[in-house]
Amino acid sequence: MQQNKAYQNVVILGGGTAGWISAALLVKLLGKSIRIQLVESDEIGIVGVGEATIPPMLNFNAALGIDEAAFIRETKGTIKLGIQFENWRKTGDSYMHAFGSIGKEFPSCSFHHFWLRSQQLNMGYDYWDFSLNYQAALQHKFAHLDRIEGVNLPGLAYAYHFDAGLYAQFLRRFSEGLGVSRIEGKVSQVVLDELSGEVKTLVLASGQQVHGDLFIDCSGLHSLLIEKTLNTGFEDWSHWLPADSALAVPCGSAAQITPYTRSIAHGKGWQWRIPLQHRTGNGFVYSSKYCTDEEAKATLLANLDGEPLAEPRKISFRTGRRRKQWHRNVVSIGLSSGFLEPLESTSIHLIQTGIMRLIKFFPNHGISDAEREEFNRQSKVEFEQIRDFIILHYKMNDRGDTQFWRDCAAMDIPESLARKIEVFRHSGRVFREQDELFSEIAWQQVMLGQGLIPQDYHPMVNALSEVQLQELLQNLQAIMQVTAGRMPPHQQFIDHCLR
Ligand SMILES: Cc1cc2nc3c(=O)[nH]c(=O)nc-3n(C[C@H](O)[C@H](O)[C@H](O)COP(=O)(O)OP(=O)(O)OC[C@H]3O[C@@H](n4cnc5c(N)ncnc54)[C@H](O)[C@@H]3O)c2cc1C
Repeated sequence: MQQNKAYQNVVILGGGTAGWISAALLVKLLGKSIRIQLVESDEIGIVGVGEATIPPMLNFNAALGIDEAAFIRETKGTIKLGIQFENWRKTGDSYMHAFGSIGKEFPSCSFHHFWLRSQQLNMGYDYWDFSLNYQAALQHKFAHLDRIEGVNLPGLAYAYHFDAGLYAQFLRRFSEGLGVSRIEGKVSQVVLDELSGEVKTLVLASGQQVHGDLFIDCSGLHSLLIEKTLNTGFEDWSHWLPADSALAVPCGSAAQITPYTRSIAHGKGWQWRIPLQHRTGNGFVYSSKYCTDEEAKATLLANLDGEPLAEPRKISFRTGRRRKQWHRNVVSIGLSSGFLEPLESTSIHLIQTGIMRLIKFFPNHGISDAEREEFNRQSKVEFEQIRDFIILHYKMNDRGDTQFWRDCAAMDIPESLARKIEVFRHSGRVFREQDELFSEIAWQQVMLGQGLIPQDYHPMVNALSEVQLQELLQNLQAIMQVTAGRMPPHQQFIDHCLR
């Protein structure tokens, strides 16, 4: 530990989404106190996937002061209102993890308890009848709407889809405009300080040396600093999330751009469809233990919206996290810090929270071991909470058609998730952990969507008579349908951004 060391020279290794997000936020918030250099290698390139996001992305863009229309235009972006999960519970079944709220918020008792009682009374409502996001998504509608007019109900929550390569370029222009220096070249050697073991210098193949006080490892799956240099160690979660491969391929767009991501389960894995303005991003995620590359390729190519625009590209990965996200004077952000498969589009969010956390902990004169440990503890909790949410989708499947899905349904799960499932199964209750990314409504949707129907509902619901309950639900259903119906088409919003 070097208590009084100033961290004025920050070196970011990597110019993918993680590198440029880190550079943009650091320069925007700390640019007057620190010097930022970013090293990236054109020869190595970027992973080039990661095109679907979640609503906190809006906060990040707001922190940078990014104009939304310019962002949509320059990244060929579209709106995302949720993720449609098809065939996940069983073949032919589908549900949405829709962003935003559902129904009406009541203190002490979540809205879904009212719906649960209506189910017991056979009133015939679908839970998603009360989701404005779902209703708008189905009709391909979108508008900026914070609150529903005339009633005290929340409006639409949304995120974006964008082209990963264009997004990195967009942030590069932003960061360089504010003073970040970019150095092109491949790092061939990392020099450590003999006494402290901290990283001192990156030596490029050209011989150029880049010195720094603090290094941010955004080298992606290469993990050049945090792992290959500092041997920080990896916590492997592949026994819970067995996918270790993805094939990615872009294709021509469908006739109509859906304002949501599609996640389609197949016999030996699942496929993403991310609609952009100029193409659809597709990928097939699978475990090499259960599915060959040839089978994956055949499944992917047989299920595209349009003509493939390239050969499918394979990406291999391991699910889990770096044991310490901050080790010595290296902080890992992005794929170098760990990876949770893209089912709930959480990686870019983890980049944003990772760099925001670093800014909160940013040392003025030295950093203590206790601060680094606290940073690492917070990162660990965040990763674990997201991990549990993703495992839920696999564990609760009722497909039974292949060994892959049968093994997922039979696997042991983390105790934290088992407890959550049991509490929900028994009484319909679900509690969001402190600072947890996914809301109670997100958990409810996936649990219900995967067929986990609670045995009971909250007694507070019995305060309403059956007639009152029917009235409440009818009103809410009508409000969501009418509000969504009045919105303009999503395409109209995109066209407006392009003007
Ligand atoms: C199959 C798949 C699908 C995904 N889908 C989503 C999604 O829908 N939503 C989401 O939020 N996330 C998704 N992700 C995650 C997302 O792609 C990444 O979090 C994001 O792209 C960040 O990547 P990165 O910047 O860490 O790595 P990369 O993009 O790989 O960048 C690494 C950088 O390091 C540089 N570099 C490496 N070694 C050296 C060296 N020796 N010298 C110089 N430079 C070097 C490279 O040149 C590059 O610039 C997905 C990931 C995968 C694998």
